[in-house]
Amino acid sequence: MTIFNEHQQEVARTLRNSVSRSDWTDWKWQVRNAVKTVDDFERVLGIEFPARKKRVYEQTLGKFPMAVTPYYLSLIDVDDYANDPVFLQSFPSPEELKIGRYDMTDPLHEDEDSPVPGITHRYPDRVLFHVSNTCAMYCRHCTRKRKVGDVDSIPSRDNLERGLEYIRNTPQVRDVLLSGGDPLMLSDEKLDWLLTEIRAIDHVEVVRIGTRTPVVLPYRITDELVSMLAKHHPLWLNTHFNHPRELTASSRRAIQRLADAGIPLGNQSVLLAGVNDCQRLIRTLNLKLIKNRIRPYYLYQCDLSEGLTHFRTPIGKGIEIIESLRGHTSGFSVPTYVVDAPGGGGKIPVMPNYVVSWGPNKVVLRNYEGVITTYHEPESYEAKYCDRECAKCNLQLKEDDAEEKAIGIERLLSDWDECTSLTPESNERMGRRDDAA
Ligand SMILES: *Cc1c(COP(=O)(O)O)cnc(C)c1O
Repeated sequence: MTIFNEHQQEVARTLRNSVSRSDWTDWKWQVRNAVKTVDDFERVLGIEFPARKKRVYEQTLGKFPMAVTPYYLSLIDVDDYANDPVFLQSFPSPEELKIGRYDMTDPLHEDEDSPVPGITHRYPDRVLFHVSNTCAMYCRHCTRKRKVGDVDSIPSRDNLERGLEYIRNTPQVRDVLLSGGDPLMLSDEKLDWLLTEIRAIDHVEVVRIGTRTPVVLPYRITDELVSMLAKHHPLWLNTHFNHPRELTASSRRAIQRLADAGIPLGNQSVLLAGVNDCQRLIRTLNLKLIKNRIRPYYLYQCDLSEGLTHFRTPIGKGIEIIESLRGHTSGFSVPTYVVDAPGGGGKIPVMPNYVVSWGPNKVVLRNYEGVITTYHEPESYEAKYCDRECAKCNLQLKEDDAEEKAIGIERLLSDWDECTSLTPESNERMGRRDDAA
């Protein structure tokens, strides 16, 4: 497929009378001409929904708005649109109005783990910084569906300043993840300013950008943007391909520019029923990503956000997919399958079980073929008593500031923490002990 092919020219013509290749490949033209109504959608694709269905689609848009870039829309296979992965990710389904029993508006408690507006501080050493309230394309499976189209805007410098101030005042933060909305909806100038401010903070070691523009608006990845980004290394970028069909000529070119600028690229897919819940498809996607220098990073279980019931698969589907990847293909084309814990517990990896059994010094393991093997653990291993006095340790990692405290399960494994069990605060049995005391 070439960039601005005949079909795309036709899509463009139905939107505007005369559209040149340079209009089409101008990201601002794409954003300005995003399709937002069912009528326009029908017109551009030359399809007609039955009147009854159309009413429900419009009703759905009343709750969850639509925006699709003409580019992304041009990838839809009109002859089989109902099964088309691009259609399913961009066009509303009446199923979105169904609220499942366990659905939540903010399942990841991002708003609660937010010390200042725009920052989610969940993990000890890194923060999510929401720097844009808008996206080029509204993914139907968005985990932040509660916010889509709410305040379609780029926060002012003053608003962003509060987030920056929090990062400046929080020395534990060594990794800042720009998210949104889509951070690449910011102008080059604004982004340059923001990255400069973040880079000026001594304790911030890396910056990451999470963006779907290489997939839905590849023309955003201009030479100017890329050379600006390259000034702010070490900078990592994660994108969001869900289906091999999304790796078009335009997308590949965008990716190539980013990779050539030395920006390490990762991909975060979401497992979606009817879109990509197939091991062969995920494998094809991941191998294609690798070929284009993108490392598959996460495969997400679909969150418990409202309006996503029809997209969810059982977790077993994801484990089955990983089962057919690990060992079968290059290790670096296997993403980590994660469930983002409802309630804000963060990402929890899930995978097939490879440890079959365990004795005092033997571990029984199985491989992807079903071969069962034993690994002999060392007969004598002198466990080093660790009191976290790193200055006296002979492992040659002399850290000045080695006083981090242990968190969670790590405490149960350590010598220097007295903790032997972790008990929920509301445990009734412990409550009785307190009452008796
Ligand atoms: C996903 C996420 C991160 C980054 O997690 P990594 O596992 O380091 O990629 C950070 N903060 C929040 C709130 C997140 O959801």
